Amino acid sequence: METRSGTLPVREGSSPKIHGLPKKNVSGKQRSIPGPDKISRFISEHRPQTPALVVDLDIIADNYLALRSTLPIAEVYYAVKANPAPEVIARLVSLGSFFDVASPAEIELVMSAGAKPQQISFGNTIKKEVDIVSAYTRGVRMFAFDSEAELLKLARAAPGAKVFCRLLMNCEGADWPLSRKFGCETDMARDLLIKAKTLGLHPYGVSFHVGSQQTRTDQWAFALEKTAELFVSLKRDGVALEMVNIGGGLPAHYRDSVEPVEAYTSAIQAAMTEHFGENLPRIIIEPGRSLVGDSGLIETEVVLISKKSYGDDARWVYLDIGKFGGLAETHDEAIKYRIEVVGRKGATGPVILAGPSCDSVDILYEKFQYQLPLSLQVGDRIRIYATGAYTSSYSSVGFNGFAPLPTYCI
Ligand SMILES: *Cc1c(COP(=O)(O)O)cnc(C)c1O
Repeated sequence: METRSGTLPVREGSSPKIHGLPKKNVSGKQRSIPGPDKISRFISEHRPQTPALVVDLDIIADNYLALRSTLPIAEVYYAVKANPAPEVIARLVSLGSFFDVASPAEIELVMSAGAKPQQISFGNTIKKEVDIVSAYTRGVRMFAFDSEAELLKLARAAPGAKVFCRLLMNCEGADWPLSRKFGCETDMARDLLIKAKTLGLHPYGVSFHVGSQQTRTDQWAFALEKTAELFVSLKRDGVALEMVNIGGGLPAHYRDSVEPVEAYTSAIQAAMTEHFGENLPRIIIEPGRSLVGDSGLIETEVVLISKKSYGDDARWVYLDIGKFGGLAETHDEAIKYRIEVVGRKGATGPVILAGPSCDSVDILYEKFQYQLPLSLQVGDRIRIYATGAYTSSYSSVGFNGFAPLPTYCI
């Protein structure tokens, strides 16, 4: 997979790594602003061209270790799509993380960083048969499905593999729902897992995803109740499932405050015990956003400030990054980032924020009006916080000739 790292204009040949700065302590504490000192220092020293995503790898490590320590019953499979920068993958490999992947390119990416095939779960329920063959040939033995047609592909292309069925969820409470498209109803899952056995596959378990940026702590409990019932009913039919994959969904810290990760993990832990008792199955969690979201910020520049008529109250503020440059999660204004102007204080007024491309869908926030300083000028730098997840991996290869969002990992 091709991921892009930024090249720094200022110091030729210098790597975008900062040495000699104190390491963050591994406390698992939530920060209100991601690595502000380290990232700010990097930006002021190197003045990278904007737009740029700067990611503090130590925050990712802290988040990973915090999740391991607050939910020790679960194995962590990082959802690679959230941020596939090779440095991010390498750091997680060094910490012992496993990986949830969606394509052969993501398998290649994590394996070239040192992950073994046994550390990989092919969690996409929509796979080409040739891609299943490719994964199987590389040694991957764990696959998701949510339909009969996909199960038949797996039986042909990955004989004997461990397969798990994804359940349909309503994703209530999630700012970025993953409902409708994924999963099947419990009765269908039950039939398919029985069928998996007759097809020579290993019916291994059940997965679900309660929706990304899930802010309700009780959503995993509902899903686990359903899952436990399915375990019991399949056991009666001679299929003993061994694994529950509780997906991702844990939130990052955007404009609205969310509870700390411990609130979610303790609810999950309690629900596991309630529904499975002492006999816990193998538990897998697949965090994406919660591991990398808070680890980075985007430095961007104001390109234009204008009004459409003399009477307008709100200013249109056009940035050098938009929906096609990596801020795709502003779709329907679903994810509202924390935004700050660098070095300007004082009275503020409403703005409509938009990207630089020649497409009118490239408006970031219009219904929700951000307040920015009235003294804002063209050329000012703006920071968009907690943008370590689902930004660089969403940025287009060059719509209107704007380069893909570079990532600096420090
Ligand atoms: C995207 C994805 C995840 C990660 O979800 P987050 O909400 O970012 O934690 C986990 N599992 C699967 C199957 C996914 O597709």
